[in-house]
Amino acid sequence: MGAEKLVIIGSGPASFCAAIYAARANLQPLVFEGFMSGPSGGQLMTTTEVENYPGFPKGILGPELMQNFRDQAIRFGTRIVTEDVESVDLSKRPFIIRNSSKVIKIESLIIATGATAKRLDIEGSREGEFWQKGVTACAVCDGAAPIFRNRPLYVIGGGDSAVEEAIFLTKYGSRVFLVHRRDQLRASKIMAERAAKHPKIEILWNTVVEKISGDDIVRTVLLRNVENNTQEEKEAGGVFFAIGHQPNTRFLNGQLKTNEAGYLMTKNGTHTSIEGVFAAGDVQDWIYRQAITAAGTGCMAALDAERWLSHLGVE
Ligand code: NAP
Repeated sequence: MGAEKLVIIGSGPASFCAAIYAARANLQPLVFEGFMSGPSGGQLMTTTEVENYPGFPKGILGPELMQNFRDQAIRFGTRIVTEDVESVDLSKRPFIIRNSSKVIKIESLIIATGATAKRLDIEGSREGEFWQKGVTACAVCDGAAPIFRNRPLYVIGGGDSAVEEAIFLTKYGSRVFLVHRRDQLRASKIMAERAAKHPKIEILWNTVVEKISGDDIVRTVLLRNVENNTQEEKEAGGVFFAIGHQPNTRFLNGQLKTNEAGYLMTKNGTHTSIEGVFAAGDVQDWIYRQAITAAGTGCMAALDAERWLSHLGVE
């Protein structure tokens, strides 16, 4: 059995953009879009209106945008397998990819498995409760929705993301409360100062959200001060988790270099620590994390893979 020229793992903007470019370069990419790992399309599948993706002046629904990405990749000959990859062996070329039904040899690999926003398991925050009805894990994606306008908003976390999201939300909410479980922010000094000085932000130190309540949408949060154990119910229009992301790299079993938080390290564009393996999108991006930047690095990864394969003489 010959080796596949290029396999792409993932199903978000990075993956399908890489597939579009690779397919148009005649690399006949094979995309593993996952199955149990979540819906094909990645994080945009849990977003409603996407208003900041260029080319859609009236906005587009997240799932519709991802269907378009996928259709465009198929149009140019991308083959898509709706299965998870269980493990990869990158110790020598051709690399090997395994899942429950297949063992495939491959010449090159693009990893675009994204990152999963961490969520807290608070009463009221789950699917079927107020998840996506006022509870979200992405202020930039969802913050402009009408349900958050001129209402008190709660951001949970104390890192740079939490501060950034809180500042972003001041454009929409009547007031933004940063709920942090300790008495000191983890965020960088400059970001912490910005939060402290912002007239619309109040930091609730040593505080956790214990319960989220409402009717069709979020109406209140139950807060607990962990120092003196007092509880208080407050009006709320939204709750935003900003407690970090987990890059989806477990199946790699530590074969590629990552930073301390587990994000894949890339150099010279999208090259990882193993030649012939490229990374794109949120699995290697802990800073920008936008659909457009993910798509951009997906394009870069396809071009990098194409050049690398042609250098090897694989056409
Ligand atoms: P982070 O730095 O890991 O911060 C996560 C925050 O969530 C921490 O304050 C943590 O509290 C809190 N947290 C974690 N689990 C929690 C739980 N179960 N309950 C309540 N709170 C919980 O994550 P991040 O803010 O997403 O940042 C990730 C990386 O990206 C960092 O290196 C950051 O500097 C970088 N980043 C940079 C920028 C920028 O430069 N503009 C913007 C965003 C992110 P504790 O502090 O108590 O642990």
